[in-house]
Amino acid sequence: MYRGCSHDCAYCDGRAEGYYVEGDFSKDITVKINAEELLNRELDRSRKRKLMSNCFITLGGGVSDAYQHIEKKYELSRKTLLLIEKYNWPVHILTKSDLVLRDLDIIKRINEKSKAIVSFSFSSVDDEISKTFEPGSSLPSKRLEAMKKIKEAGITTGIFYMPVIPLITDSKKQMEETLNKCKNAGAEFVIFGSMTLKPGRQKEYFMNIIKVHYPMYVERYNKHYLDNNKYGVPSHEYRAYIHK
Ligand code: SF4
Repeated sequence: MYRGCSHDCAYCDGRAEGYYVEGDFSKDITVKINAEELLNRELDRSRKRKLMSNCFITLGGGVSDAYQHIEKKYELSRKTLLLIEKYNWPVHILTKSDLVLRDLDIIKRINEKSKAIVSFSFSSVDDEISKTFEPGSSLPSKRLEAMKKIKEAGITTGIFYMPVIPLITDSKKQMEETLNKCKNAGAEFVIFGSMTLKPGRQKEYFMNIIKVHYPMYVERYNKHYLDNNKYGVPSHEYRAYIHK
């Protein structure tokens, strides 16, 4: 739908060079204005080339959020859902925005016919930390409220608990609080992942924020995220801690 993301998460790996998103990642948003036309062609069952059966169509992305601010104007995600409904496919939506509630009418109809899942991603449930690291997204408290409404509408919901931010949102207490609040809001599953920091644009952007807001952690970050690790995975020591 889009490339670039106004949610502007400090840790977003969409900034990494390998994704080829040029310009200011959070401001220069590319809009795929022919997405509806292309998807309509792909989903048309009368065509010879068929999609796999029994698979979910995923509405979300690694270098954008389908419900970021510009969606209010272009409504590409809403139009996509209408096509998914028309062709009777199941859908899995992943977002950090409560704007998804705008489309609850369609999501409910899809769920009745073929199944819909709505997932929210969290790095914590702390609104203050989120303002620093996810300044353009809906606050975690708003995401929890949205999750509750999705659940009350009879739709499966869960969380992508990623990335947990090392040293900042990864204490046992914080993680228990996140899991408890999400469970109380209706989350039925958790998909967990630690944070990657690929050397280059992604790491530089993130570390500039650490230098300003958490300078005391700079040294430990440099120890856990080595510049010669091109995939940006944290040290074995940190991974052992966080997965435990
Ligand atoms: S919402 Fe997702 S795609 Fe958008 S900036 Fe945050 S991590 Fe990146």
